[in-house]
Amino acid sequence: MLSKENPTKGAERFPPGTRVSDASSGLKFISELGRSLLFTVHPKKVANVVANTILSGVGAEACAVAVKLQHIGLVCSSYSSVEDGPCDQFHKERFSRWLSLLPPQVSFHTENADEFFLNSEEHSFEYIAPIHIEGEVKGAIIVGFANADECTREIRQLIDAATQLTAMSINLTSHYEAALNTSIIEAKEEHRKFTEAVLDTLPVSLYVIDRDFNIVMWNRHREIGIQGMPRDEVIGRNVFQVLSKYPRGRLSQEFERAFKTGKIERIEQQTTDDEGATKHWLVSKVPMKDERGVVTHVITVGEDITMRVEAIHAVGRAEKLAAVGRLASGVVHEINNPLATISACAEVLESRVDEGVFGTSGDVEDLREYLGLIHSEAFRCKSITNGLLDFSRVRTGNRVAVNLSEVIRSSANLVSHQKRGDNIEIIVEVDDHLPLIKADEGQIQQAVIALATNAIDAMPDGGSLTFRTNANGRRLIIEIEDTGVGIPVEDMSRIFEPFFTTKEVGKGTGLGLAVCYGIITDHGGRLNVRSNLGKGTTFSIFLPLAH
Ligand code: ADP
Ligand code: MG
Repeated sequence: MLSKENPTKGAERFPPGTRVSDASSGLKFISELGRSLLFTVHPKKVANVVANTILSGVGAEACAVAVKLQHIGLVCSSYSSVEDGPCDQFHKERFSRWLSLLPPQVSFHTENADEFFLNSEEHSFEYIAPIHIEGEVKGAIIVGFANADECTREIRQLIDAATQLTAMSINLTSHYEAALNTSIIEAKEEHRKFTEAVLDTLPVSLYVIDRDFNIVMWNRHREIGIQGMPRDEVIGRNVFQVLSKYPRGRLSQEFERAFKTGKIERIEQQTTDDEGATKHWLVSKVPMKDERGVVTHVITVGEDITMRVEAIHAVGRAEKLAAVGRLASGVVHEINNPLATISACAEVLESRVDEGVFGTSGDVEDLREYLGLIHSEAFRCKSITNGLLDFSRVRTGNRVAVNLSEVIRSSANLVSHQKRGDNIEIIVEVDDHLPLIKADEGQIQQAVIALATNAIDAMPDGGSLTFRTNANGRRLIIEIEDTGVGIPVEDMSRIFEPFFTTKEVGKGTGLGLAVCYGIITDHGGRLNVRSNLGKGTTFSIFLPLAH
């Protein structure tokens, strides 16, 4: 279809002013086109301007500008005189194929409708001017005329000149667009990384789901801890599959509510880690809305509030201890005096019985038994009132440099005499070179024995009781570990309360841990507990080192 261009008649058929009619209007056409292209920065716009200008400038029936650009693809614009504007009258696939098959370097024309790139009904002649960019044919300007006569030599020259201008302009703008796209992509990437870094730095665990309950965001903190999971494994997956350990009904209700109401919801949760330590969480479900106010995502934020909750509990405990202490100091003296009298009277009567003052009848035996009961019960009352007195005592006590290892050894020794049966093994793992601490030896021993007694009570079927010491920076740690029944989660927050006991009446007073707690906090220390139900419990005493 390639043919040498033959000069045909002039362009004077076109009305002057709108169409090219002579050399000067030809020049004007080219300079106008150049000026419009000056303000055009996108290849697609260049194609529009050129196609439109040529269509009206040369009185064609249709005109298309099509260029295949790297990174951008096929940029194409077609105009027709019938539509009087942009149209879709272009055989893109035919053109792409043509472009890939070593297209001719110079302009040519065709009258074979099967080869037309323009699919307008109105033309019977197509003039095709290849667009060269950086030495290669990257596209073409295709102009459709009603008949061959209308495509004069001058018009062909004009189209060729316009094609060169177009090539230059498209080349420039495509570089501009590529640079713009890269910088936009880079800026977006930069922004995405920054947002991710912000979310990863927050000291909370955070994830986001969309309306289909798929996870779209999962921050670093959500990757760690017992329920942590790597980000790569969860992004894009359904939240119910990922969090399969959570009760599905409750989780889906929480999400549905957030999507429906659009209100923030806060839920407090408690978990126990593998070592039995209790953690408290504040979980917030935060609905995220689009500009129309529709909830599109729900953000779940989990905050570790263990320290806060423990502090509140500690304050509560301290207040309770102080109240019990005040009550005790008032009451204990009042009770101790009559108790002493009761014990003394019982003792006197017992010795009278022994002396035979009341004779030797069977009734006297009853009397002896009852006096024994009065005596032992009064003794029990006294041990309770003594326990109570521990609260009220001013505990600043006798603080001297103490070797904890010795205290632990002697406590373990005392406890081993006290334990019932042989089925409890006592293990002592103490470091003999521990630094000294300033403490009241008697009180520390009392605390250790209270913990050890509880440990023995927790192992009715035997087990092992370990006394351990460690030094850790500025603190000394004493651990009392048992392999007993463990403490249920619901009891955890109550065990330090005075009078809280799970033991049968007469066996437990519920004062052991409360006193222990009081002693340790008085020493500027801390008492911690980790428990695993059915496996055992470890109480840890942290004491500051003496300086
Ligand atoms: P008591 O020993 O008189 O019951 P405590 O204050 O010493 O009072 O302990 C309170 C409660 O804490 C106990 O009744 C028991 O339920 C629980 N407890 C304490 N230590 C342990 C332990 N080592 N193992 C299991 N439960 C324990
Ligand atoms: Mg106890």
